[in-house]
Amino acid sequence: MLSLTSWPVAALHEAELASRTYMRVGGRVRWLLEPATPAELALAWTTARERGFTPRILGGGCNLIIEDGLLEGVVIATDRLKRCFRPTLGGADIDPNEDEARVAPAEPGSDPRLIAWSGVTLQNLVQTTTALGLSGFECLAGVPGQLGGGIAMNAGGRYGEMWDSVELVRVLEPDGSIRDLPRAECTPRYRNGGLGERVVLGAVLRLKPSTPAEVRERAKQYLIEKRNVQPVTEWSAGCVFKNPDPAKSNGSSAGKLVELCGLKGRTRGDAIVSPLHGNFVINRGAATAADVLALIEEVRTTVAEKTGVVLENEVKVWRAG
Ligand SMILES: Cc1cc2nc3c(=O)[nH]c(=O)nc-3n(C[C@H](O)[C@H](O)[C@H](O)COP(=O)(O)OP(=O)(O)OC[C@H]3O[C@@H](n4cnc5c(N)ncnc54)[C@H](O)[C@@H]3O)c2cc1C
Repeated sequence: MLSLTSWPVAALHEAELASRTYMRVGGRVRWLLEPATPAELALAWTTARERGFTPRILGGGCNLIIEDGLLEGVVIATDRLKRCFRPTLGGADIDPNEDEARVAPAEPGSDPRLIAWSGVTLQNLVQTTTALGLSGFECLAGVPGQLGGGIAMNAGGRYGEMWDSVELVRVLEPDGSIRDLPRAECTPRYRNGGLGERVVLGAVLRLKPSTPAEVRERAKQYLIEKRNVQPVTEWSAGCVFKNPDPAKSNGSSAGKLVELCGLKGRTRGDAIVSPLHGNFVINRGAATAADVLALIEEVRTTVAEKTGVVLENEVKVWRAG
């Protein structure tokens, strides 16, 4: 029997998870571990593995639906890994001496890189890079979530994606060893960072020198465009489905197929297919994970019957039990 204080990092027993996701559905997990540094994350992971668990990693919970009920095992949350700083003169260490890590103003011609731990939010990175006049992250304006989740999912859109700005990622291998993977050794794809079971501890980001005014203007435009077509302020898990191969869908995106099948506005309990964008399912306040997942299956089945296209999940689903 494990005691409540037996983990080497901050731990919560039977922690509630819904409030840690953007969709606000889901049950509890037997153990929630909350490391505060990359070293603590590695320790939490190896300790959980030694105890026979395969930990799941929770970032911002923005592309995730967690089932109702109790998830057995361990979830490791990256919320507390929030440091973001510029490389020191000596190099780009992801876990440097405390005193050396600062986000100092960028001088003309200075190193256009940033180092971030996995729990830094994507919006924090958009704001930080904008203030420094460094370009590359404005394509993620309005995309919620954290650096680790963004790298794992290769978050992005029509103006660029996460991995465009990654120079190196520090990962925890499934065996507990730590490795630095240069961009050239990685194969990110559409909404998939290609890291498999590896855990992102942090990354070195390489941006392009620009000016705060230029970056701010682009970020503002992208955000306006996004808000016009996506229900960004409502509780959702982002795009439910990946866009299908255009050759098979006659060029239609997943959202367009849902719309063509007349499914916008379809409800199940308090879950609804967004009237604004067919690829978003929204929790209107009291939806359960069961409502959301049943609605997603109804949409997938109807689209397959009517168009022959079987939509593949972009969202991750954590099953209870
Ligand atoms: C309103 C809204 C708008 C969105 N718009 C976009 C968009 O325009 N483009 C886009 O691409 N996405 C979009 N998303 C989806 C989401 O914001 C991104 O996928 C984001 O990158 C998820 O990050 P997260 O930290 O929330 O990951 P989570 O949802 O917590 O996790 C997603 C997956 O990544 C894994 N993961 C998380 N952290 C790590 C880590 N440190 N190491 C390894 N694996 C990890 C999790 O285990 C899980 O499998 C949107 C979501 C919402 C709610």
